[in-house]
Amino acid sequence: MADITLWKPEPDLIIHQALGKAVEEASELAKILARCLIQGLDAKDPKTGIPNRQAVLEEMADIDAAIVWLLEVAYRPDDQLLERANRKLAGFLQWQKMLEDDREHSDRDPTLDNRWNAGLDFAMKQLCKLLGVDPQSVSWDAATETLDGDVRSVIGNILRAKLGENWGPDGREPEGYAGTVADMIGSKANG
Ligand SMILES: [Mg+2]
Repeated sequence: MADITLWKPEPDLIIHQALGKAVEEASELAKILARCLIQGLDAKDPKTGIPNRQAVLEEMADIDAAIVWLLEVAYRPDDQLLERANRKLAGFLQWQKMLEDDREHSDRDPTLDNRWNAGLDFAMKQLCKLLGVDPQSVSWDAATETLDGDVRSVIGNILRAKLGENWGPDGREPEGYAGTVADMIGSKANG
Protein backbone atom coordinates (compact mmCIF):
# COMPACT_ATOMS: atom_id res chain seq x y z
CA MET A 1 0.00 0.00 0.00
CA ALA A 2 2.96 2.32 0.60
CA ASP A 3 3.34 2.83 -3.21
CA ILE A 4 0.03 4.69 -3.47
CA THR A 5 0.26 8.49 -3.12
CA LEU A 6 -2.61 10.80 -2.24
CA TRP A 7 -2.45 12.89 -5.44
CA LYS A 8 -4.79 15.89 -5.63
CA PRO A 9 -5.52 18.26 -8.54
CA GLU A 10 -3.43 21.42 -9.08
CA PRO A 11 -4.85 23.76 -6.41
CA ASP A 12 -4.54 27.05 -8.36
CA LEU A 13 -7.74 27.33 -10.41
CA ILE A 14 -6.21 29.43 -13.23
CA ILE A 15 -3.08 27.29 -13.56
CA HIS A 16 -5.28 24.19 -13.42
CA GLN A 17 -7.35 25.42 -16.36
CA ALA A 18 -4.28 26.59 -18.33
CA LEU A 19 -2.74 23.13 -17.88
CA GLY A 20 -5.98 21.57 -19.05
CA LYS A 21 -6.14 23.76 -22.16
CA ALA A 22 -2.51 22.98 -22.99
CA VAL A 23 -3.27 19.24 -22.82
CA GLU A 24 -6.41 19.65 -24.93
CA GLU A 25 -4.64 21.70 -27.62
CA ALA A 26 -1.56 19.45 -27.54
CA SER A 27 -3.76 16.42 -28.20
CA GLU A 28 -5.58 18.23 -31.04
CA LEU A 29 -2.22 19.04 -32.62
CA ALA A 30 -1.06 15.45 -32.10
CA LYS A 31 -4.23 14.19 -33.82
CA ILE A 32 -3.87 16.31 -36.95
CA LEU A 33 -0.10 15.60 -37.15
CA ALA A 34 -0.87 11.86 -37.05
CA ARG A 35 -3.37 12.35 -39.88
CA CYS A 36 -0.72 14.19 -41.93
CA LEU A 37 1.70 11.30 -41.44
CA ILE A 38 -0.96 8.85 -42.64
CA GLN A 39 -2.50 10.93 -45.47
CA GLY A 40 0.12 13.54 -46.36
CA LEU A 41 0.38 17.22 -45.46
CA ASP A 42 -1.30 18.23 -48.73
CA ALA A 43 -4.31 15.91 -48.43
CA LYS A 44 -7.75 17.11 -47.32
CA ASP A 45 -10.17 15.98 -44.64
CA PRO A 46 -12.63 13.91 -46.74
CA LYS A 47 -15.62 15.10 -44.67
CA THR A 48 -14.95 18.81 -44.22
CA GLY A 49 -12.70 19.41 -47.22
CA ILE A 50 -10.29 21.37 -44.98
CA PRO A 51 -6.68 20.91 -46.18
CA ASN A 52 -4.47 19.14 -43.61
CA ARG A 53 -1.85 21.87 -44.06
CA GLN A 54 -4.35 24.50 -42.91
CA ALA A 55 -5.60 22.35 -40.01
CA VAL A 56 -2.02 21.91 -38.76
CA LEU A 57 -1.44 25.66 -38.93
CA GLU A 58 -4.60 26.29 -36.90
CA GLU A 59 -3.67 23.74 -34.24
CA MET A 60 -0.11 25.13 -34.05
CA ALA A 61 -1.67 28.56 -33.42
CA ASP A 62 -3.94 27.05 -30.74
CA ILE A 63 -1.11 25.31 -28.91
CA ASP A 64 1.03 28.43 -29.24
CA ALA A 65 -1.72 30.44 -27.50
CA ALA A 66 -2.15 27.77 -24.81
CA ILE A 67 1.60 27.76 -24.14
CA VAL A 68 1.75 31.56 -23.93
CA TRP A 69 -1.15 31.52 -21.46
CA LEU A 70 0.44 28.79 -19.33
CA LEU A 71 3.74 30.69 -19.34
CA GLU A 72 1.96 33.84 -18.23
CA VAL A 73 0.09 32.26 -15.33
CA ALA A 74 2.65 29.72 -14.10
CA TYR A 75 6.18 30.96 -14.96
CA ARG A 76 8.49 33.92 -14.44
CA PRO A 77 9.73 35.94 -17.43
CA ASP A 78 13.35 34.94 -16.74
CA ASP A 79 12.69 31.18 -16.82
CA GLN A 80 15.02 29.66 -19.44
CA LEU A 81 12.47 28.86 -22.15
CA LEU A 82 14.04 30.55 -25.16
CA GLU A 83 17.52 29.25 -24.45
CA ARG A 84 16.30 25.67 -24.41
CA ALA A 85 14.11 26.20 -27.49
CA ASN A 86 17.07 27.62 -29.41
CA ARG A 87 19.28 24.71 -28.38
CA LYS A 88 16.59 22.26 -29.49
CA LEU A 89 16.12 24.05 -32.82
CA ALA A 90 19.88 24.03 -33.47
CA GLY A 91 19.77 20.24 -32.97
CA PHE A 92 16.84 19.86 -35.38
CA LEU A 93 18.64 21.91 -38.05
CA GLN A 94 21.79 19.83 -37.63
CA TRP A 95 19.73 16.66 -38.04
CA GLN A 96 18.02 18.12 -41.14
CA LYS A 97 21.43 18.73 -42.73
CA MET A 98 22.44 15.12 -42.01
CA LEU A 99 19.19 13.84 -43.57
CA GLU A 100 19.74 15.98 -46.68
CA ASP A 101 23.34 14.77 -47.04
CA ASP A 102 22.19 11.17 -46.61
CA ARG A 103 19.44 11.61 -49.22
CA GLU A 104 21.91 13.11 -51.68
CA HIS A 105 24.28 10.20 -51.10
CA SER A 106 21.46 7.64 -51.53
CA ASP A 107 20.31 9.32 -54.76
CA ARG A 108 23.80 8.84 -56.21
CA ASP A 109 24.31 5.24 -55.02
CA PRO A 110 21.74 2.97 -56.72
CA THR A 111 23.09 -0.15 -54.96
CA LEU A 112 21.28 1.04 -51.82
CA ASP A 113 18.03 0.31 -53.72
CA ASN A 114 17.01 -3.37 -53.76
CA ARG A 115 15.13 -2.86 -57.05
CA TRP A 116 18.35 -1.73 -58.75
CA ASN A 117 20.22 -4.80 -57.45
CA ALA A 118 17.37 -7.11 -58.52
CA GLY A 119 17.35 -5.48 -61.99
CA LEU A 120 21.08 -5.92 -62.35
CA ASP A 121 20.85 -9.59 -61.32
CA PHE A 122 17.99 -10.06 -63.77
CA ALA A 123 19.97 -8.56 -66.66
CA MET A 124 23.03 -10.68 -65.84
CA LYS A 125 20.94 -13.88 -65.71
CA GLN A 126 19.32 -12.93 -69.03
CA LEU A 127 22.80 -12.48 -70.54
CA CYS A 128 23.71 -15.96 -69.24
CA LYS A 129 20.52 -17.37 -70.78
CA LEU A 130 21.22 -15.69 -74.13
CA LEU A 131 24.76 -17.07 -74.22
CA GLY A 132 23.73 -20.52 -72.93
CA VAL A 133 25.93 -20.12 -69.83
CA ASP A 134 24.97 -21.81 -66.57
CA PRO A 135 24.82 -19.01 -63.93
CA GLN A 136 26.18 -21.55 -61.38
CA SER A 137 29.42 -21.74 -63.36
CA VAL A 138 29.96 -17.96 -63.26
CA SER A 139 31.94 -16.24 -60.54
CA TRP A 140 29.70 -13.45 -59.24
CA ASP A 141 32.37 -12.02 -56.96
CA ALA A 142 33.86 -8.71 -57.98
CA ALA A 143 35.95 -6.45 -55.81
CA THR A 144 36.99 -3.54 -58.00
CA GLU A 145 35.80 -0.94 -55.46
CA THR A 146 33.61 0.76 -58.07
CA LEU A 147 30.12 -0.11 -59.26
CA ASP A 148 31.09 0.28 -62.91
CA GLY A 149 34.17 -1.89 -62.42
CA ASP A 150 32.19 -4.59 -60.58
CA VAL A 151 29.54 -4.75 -63.33
CA ARG A 152 32.17 -5.04 -66.07
CA SER A 153 34.09 -7.59 -64.04
CA VAL A 154 31.02 -9.86 -63.70
CA ILE A 155 30.16 -9.44 -67.41
CA GLY A 156 33.76 -10.50 -68.10
CA ASN A 157 33.25 -13.58 -65.90
CA ILE A 158 30.11 -14.51 -67.86
CA LEU A 159 31.97 -14.12 -71.17
CA ARG A 160 34.87 -16.22 -69.86
CA ALA A 161 32.38 -18.95 -68.88
CA LYS A 162 31.23 -18.85 -72.52
CA LEU A 163 34.46 -18.24 -74.40
CA GLY A 164 37.04 -19.88 -72.15
CA GLU A 165 39.36 -18.76 -69.35
CA ASN A 166 41.79 -17.11 -71.76
CA TRP A 167 39.27 -14.59 -73.00
CA GLY A 168 39.84 -11.02 -71.83
CA PRO A 169 39.04 -7.48 -72.92
CA ASP A 170 41.51 -6.05 -75.43
CA GLY A 171 41.73 -2.76 -73.54
CA ARG A 172 40.13 -0.67 -76.27
CA GLU A 173 37.15 1.36 -75.08
CA PRO A 174 35.19 3.20 -77.77
CA GLU A 175 34.99 6.93 -77.16
CA GLY A 176 31.69 8.36 -76.00
CA TYR A 177 30.76 4.98 -74.60
CA ALA A 178 28.43 4.70 -71.57
CA GLY A 179 29.78 6.72 -68.68
CA THR A 180 29.64 5.84 -65.02
CA VAL A 181 26.35 5.21 -63.24
CA ALA A 182 27.06 8.22 -61.05
CA ASP A 183 27.37 10.37 -64.20
CA MET A 184 24.13 9.01 -65.59
CA ILE A 185 22.21 9.53 -62.35
CA GLY A 186 23.92 12.87 -61.78
CA SER A 187 23.02 14.19 -65.24
CA LYS A 188 19.44 13.05 -64.69
CA ALA A 189 19.29 14.64 -61.25
CA ASN A 190 20.80 17.90 -62.51
CA GLY A 191 18.93 17.99 -65.80
MG1 LIG B 1 -7.46 23.43 -31.26
